[in-house]
Amino acid sequence: MPDLAPYAVGDGNSHGRAFVEPRPKARSEFQRDRDRIVHSTAFRRLEYKTQVFVNHEGDLFRTRLTHSIEVAQIARSIARALHLNDDLAEAIALAHDLGHTPFGHAGQDALNECMREHGGFEHNLQSLRIVDRLEERYGAFDGLNLMFETREGILKHCSPARARQLGDLGRRFIEGSSPSLEAQICNLADEIAYNNHDVDDGLRSGVLTLEQLQEISLFARHAAEVDAEFPEIAGRRRVHETIRRMIDAQVTDLLAESARCISEAAPNSLEDVHRAPEMIDFTPAMKDENRALKSFLRENLYHHYQVLRMTTKARRVIQELFNAFVDNPRLLPPQYLDLAAHEGIARATADYIAGMTDRYSMKEHRRLFSVGEY
Ligand code: MG
Repeated sequence: MPDLAPYAVGDGNSHGRAFVEPRPKARSEFQRDRDRIVHSTAFRRLEYKTQVFVNHEGDLFRTRLTHSIEVAQIARSIARALHLNDDLAEAIALAHDLGHTPFGHAGQDALNECMREHGGFEHNLQSLRIVDRLEERYGAFDGLNLMFETREGILKHCSPARARQLGDLGRRFIEGSSPSLEAQICNLADEIAYNNHDVDDGLRSGVLTLEQLQEISLFARHAAEVDAEFPEIAGRRRVHETIRRMIDAQVTDLLAESARCISEAAPNSLEDVHRAPEMIDFTPAMKDENRALKSFLRENLYHHYQVLRMTTKARRVIQELFNAFVDNPRLLPPQYLDLAAHEGIARATADYIAGMTDRYSMKEHRRLFSVGEY
């Protein structure tokens, strides 16, 4: 990799893999992680998992898979511009949503409620559990045996109580140290991706209108720029040209502010990065604009009645599936009974449900609850 900064994560300064393996022949360790994630079962499932709109509502809406690819693309660009490890940034981004349940946040909230007495359910921790334990692809170990820094990036947040059970990986949540700059980039690349694609999907679905978006400075000022440059522009092309500029403005702002923070903190090593406060950030002005866009989306898109109808239904599907399996474990596929023998029926059921795609969970619900389906 050409000219990585001395504080970037590399094969040489990494904490490595839990299970020691021979070095890859023609790739870096983090390229290997990225490749392992792309080949995993959990990654393919992302195609049929809801981001905001349920997959079957329309072919053009984002799914968790296309969302993750957009995050990876944004994270790579930022990492490369800052001379950081873009393979690591890509690996974290592609894996960051692996633990999501069907039906997006509604699904996660429902499953967390079901698991209240059994240690809870959190999609971040579930992503980690998938790459550490649940994927069954290698003869020598469970999971994908990813590099420490990839796993660190996947575990975006974590309660101190839970962190204490996670050994080295949990330490930063107890000590208050920072993750790698590559991990910090992924958090904000995630935000850039969903804020912008949710505007696009919201408009496409008709749930959001252009008039409403005029209240949002980030949208309004770029739309005005587009209108000034292309007086004839209209329709989808105007929306896309506006959103393209919003993404570009956010990435450009993040790059400038982060470069400034890095040069001010002047880290010389990865250790310096861990010890210092986080350095990847937007300017205060851009943060304000982002906050306004986020609360607009919460109010007008995520809490829109058409979306709420879906999330209410999703909650019921997940609760009913969970109760059915916990009440009668023999309804579970046999491999989950093995897991239940080690980790209890509740956790095994949560793993099974979290792994489901939207349509699979609905099918499973019909198989269990409708007469005439099997
Ligand atoms: Mg995400």
